[in-house]
Amino acid sequence: MHRLPSTFEFQTSAETIRAHHWRSYTDTYKGCEFECQYCLYKGPGEYGRHVRPVEISVPARSDLGIVDIGTTTDPYQPMEAEQKLTRSILEAAIAEQIPLFVLTRGSLVLRDVDLLRELASAGLVEVCVSIITLNEDITTRIEPNAPRPSERLRVAEQLAAQDIPVAFHVAPLIPGLDTPEDLAAMGKRLAEACGSHVFSAMLGARKPYWEPFYRGMDAVADKCGSFETFERAYPRDFDFSRDAAGTCDFEYALPALTPLRDGVTEGGAIYVSENYPFLTTGALEKGIYRWKLPTVYDMASWIEGRGSVAEWPEFLDWYRGFQPSDRLVGLVRSLWESGELFLGTHLAKQGDGYARSEELLLPAQHTLVAKRTPVA
Ligand code: SF4
Repeated sequence: MHRLPSTFEFQTSAETIRAHHWRSYTDTYKGCEFECQYCLYKGPGEYGRHVRPVEISVPARSDLGIVDIGTTTDPYQPMEAEQKLTRSILEAAIAEQIPLFVLTRGSLVLRDVDLLRELASAGLVEVCVSIITLNEDITTRIEPNAPRPSERLRVAEQLAAQDIPVAFHVAPLIPGLDTPEDLAAMGKRLAEACGSHVFSAMLGARKPYWEPFYRGMDAVADKCGSFETFERAYPRDFDFSRDAAGTCDFEYALPALTPLRDGVTEGGAIYVSENYPFLTTGALEKGIYRWKLPTVYDMASWIEGRGSVAEWPEFLDWYRGFQPSDRLVGLVRSLWESGELFLGTHLAKQGDGYARSEELLLPAQHTLVAKRTPVA
């Protein structure tokens, strides 16, 4: 009898549809011992010393799609050495042939190479190593308990050497943390280590962690490439009322994303921007990530590529191919009709469809905050 992950439909708000590919996910722990100071998912009683294993029962195999592990807590944090909950999920995935996307910073993932190899041989797993910078003077302060970046590089190289699909997730990408030269060098190094693809996602500012995070950033100000750039991109008095996603403006994102992308390309891997797909450098051919749900930005790229007005029925045909749930389709439909779905893209509404516009409506993403109504 295998313990299967309890999974949750995750994309139920406009906010998650816009930026995340997650279909369903499971977490093996509440809280995270790594204690990154920008962590989106910490909350009272669910962080650091309060970490505790989660009951994993609910055998709900049908229509799981790809299950993400590690979206809100690290599956290979120290507690896993004893608890082995993540390992039990890998065992269940082998038995039930469930595809997994495993996101981690923990070097403990190497313990499970035997199971990961088995999953990989069936095309059922991709491991994504999360990293923000190669500058260990910074990570020591703001990711106090996580493995050092050099250790994460070693982990990725060892997984790749075992024929386990591995990628990197540069998240959160924080403008000003590194110089453009450092970002390019990091992109190249990550590309060489994984040999496949490197994703990135901009820092999502959140009120609950903002003050402690800023204190951490102040402490490493002299280690940053340009602390002034960081302060301009993410002001100390960030306006949390205007932006549900809490990301910086495009003018600050682009100078960080471009050198990273160029470095990844030079290193021979594909670069994927989760915030701005037009920066993505190619189609993914390896790894299970390519099967995940499209974000709004992927939807926009598909429509733009059609060269004419795309109306709802043909869009729905395409979108259904990713097997979204009915309630997700309902939410996308309502945002499509209201015109909000493609704010922040090059698409303009025309009748019941959308077509490419010359104008990139980036600031408009800030209006989404009042509209992110979950589907009941
Ligand atoms: S490793 Fe991930 S889940 Fe854990 S504290 Fe850091 S950001 Fe949060």
